[in-house]
Amino acid sequence: MRNIDGNTRLCGLIGNPVAHSVSPAIHNTLAELLNDNIVYSTFCVEPNRVDQAVKGAYALGVLGLNVTVPYKSDVIPYLVEMDPLAKRIGASNTLVRVDGGFKGYNTDMQGLYRAMREDGVDIADEHILIIGAGGVARAVAMMSATYCAASITILNRTLDKAQKIKEELETLFPNVKISVFTLQDFNRLPENDYVAIQATNVGMHPNTDEVVIDNVEFYDKIKTAYDLIFNPLTTKFMRLAESAGIRSYNGLKMLLYQGIIAYELWNECKVPDDAIQKAYQKMKEAMGINE
Ligand code: NAP
Repeated sequence: MRNIDGNTRLCGLIGNPVAHSVSPAIHNTLAELLNDNIVYSTFCVEPNRVDQAVKGAYALGVLGLNVTVPYKSDVIPYLVEMDPLAKRIGASNTLVRVDGGFKGYNTDMQGLYRAMREDGVDIADEHILIIGAGGVARAVAMMSATYCAASITILNRTLDKAQKIKEELETLFPNVKISVFTLQDFNRLPENDYVAIQATNVGMHPNTDEVVIDNVEFYDKIKTAYDLIFNPLTTKFMRLAESAGIRSYNGLKMLLYQGIIAYELWNECKVPDDAIQKAYQKMKEAMGINE
């Protein structure tokens, strides 16, 4: 049991709801392992009080905050600085204390990038295929352009939404190669070695028998399958990919690494691998996953 004393610094999560969060398991495990005198707690914030929450946390000397649904964009006006990737995405899930206020980062996307790198999956020079055009898919598109994908292709049920992301990306990255298709037009995809990132909520618990594309011919076009869903651990999308001989991954490590990167930003440190593995174990226990 750690000693909480007059020097203990506070970090925490703001959002609504927050009670289900596994972030306390990640951060308090890291603090204990690395002997950092911080504690991490959750704060459920009412919709009209985001301003007060951010400014009040700064006034109280809070070291850093995570931000979750529905406030990842709402916090931005109350920050003094934004990391360029978070600015492009238009959402911040990690606030770091700097002079005069908090600086916003997006460790969700940095977390996905780091999880992919750890799994040996690169973005640079790869054909990235994003399924979905919601908030997370848009962020994945920004990340893919930032980390120099050879091309970005978005497949979505509603073409207009994919088109809107395309236009935004072309404004920010004039040299980006981006195309959009509806889901049923997957057979028009020009490449056959895509790194596919499934960023819709189709297949999520309890609808585990659903998949966004069930035609087996689609899986001939991809070489790696990443599903950002982590409940269930193996989605139907992943099962279909595996049946086609394609390596597949779930969104659990993205969740872990968004926390690891936030911890590193707050404490200006590099979390060692053994501590990452222990935090991963504690995070899975907090989710009721027994592996
Ligand atoms: P969102 O903004 O609501 O977007 C949902 C997307 O799913 C849209 O593209 C939507 O298509 C598509 N969709 C929904 N129902 C569909 C259906 N029946 N058939 C075809 N497409 C359908 O959601 P989001 O915030 O981007 O989140 C997406 C997922 O990311 C979440 O469900 C979660 O699993 C995952 N996620 C993972 C992590 C992690 O740490 N691993 C973190 C955050 C989110 P339309 O545009 O046509 O409506």
